[in-house]
Amino acid sequence: MTSAIRAETRRAERRRRIERRRRRAVATVTATLSACVMIVSGALLASGATGSGGDPQAQGAGSASARGLPSQTASPSPTPTSSPTPSEDDSDAEFCPGEVASAIESGDSEAVVVAAGGGAAFRDAVVSGQADDCIALDHPAWEWVVVNKRRPIVPEDFAPDVVEPATYSPIGAHLAPQAAEALDEMTRAAQEAGAGDIGLESGYRSYEAQVEAHEAQIAARGSETAADETSARPGYSEHQLGLAADLVACEAGTCGSIYEFEGTSQQQWIAENAAEYGWIVRYTGTETGTTGYESEPWHLRFVGVELATAYVEGAYDTFEDFWGLPAAPDYD
Ligand SMILES: [Zn+2]
Repeated sequence: MTSAIRAETRRAERRRRIERRRRRAVATVTATLSACVMIVSGALLASGATGSGGDPQAQGAGSASARGLPSQTASPSPTPTSSPTPSEDDSDAEFCPGEVASAIESGDSEAVVVAAGGGAAFRDAVVSGQADDCIALDHPAWEWVVVNKRRPIVPEDFAPDVVEPATYSPIGAHLAPQAAEALDEMTRAAQEAGAGDIGLESGYRSYEAQVEAHEAQIAARGSETAADETSARPGYSEHQLGLAADLVACEAGTCGSIYEFEGTSQQQWIAENAAEYGWIVRYTGTETGTTGYESEPWHLRFVGVELATAYVEGAYDTFEDFWGLPAAPDYD
């Protein structure tokens, strides 16, 4: 009861923060427009208004550069002719314009989901096809992106902005800014709840780093087939998004390995509470035929509080099922 109220309060606070960020972003755009760079800004706005051209990294970085982002070809063509399928309820046909469009311009994934009416409403719009004109699940800079053995990262060399979280990491791992902030909030809460210290074993990994990680697994397991069950091939890892975190349990400054995480008080707390902070346990081991991965209780994927909440409330086992996507048990 108390924890439900706390979660609700935190969600309300987060929504207010998002609304403030959204207003600031709109104000910035307005100021930019009046600063005699109207042609450039107009082009940015136009690409943002058509949907997935918006750059979720731009706001935090204070830059509107499209660096590292895939071209429009990665998303469904937003041509005027492909209007949403007519439905009995007129309001359903109005997903992309209005509040959702301005949230997309702000570049803030969570703000877009809130504008859509929350995680469950956003998911429904995507699954039904009503969001086809402005939301794509293959754009690596948005928090709803799905990467698996059938869905490589496009472009292959995508590299997000990353920062170093305050959470202890033996290797100084980095994450996308919003994921880093959420991780710190989560590990602090775990500590305050008496669950113990949590460390970040691995966060963002570049394409090149994944080449090494995968080769190490092939060497350790004896074949690529065996390695594929636990390690993604380069270009297919959620770690390259900056939105995945491998957690370990720590005590007095010493951390265990990821393989020792299961069964710890830290892992149990994470399994129950991660969604409150925007994270889901991506590979639970119950649906290996869908995800292509064995159980990895240490591997968390940041999807934002709204989507993570809809995920656990809907009792989904995989991110693929959540979006109504086909299983990805192995590489094509
Ligand atoms: Zn991982």
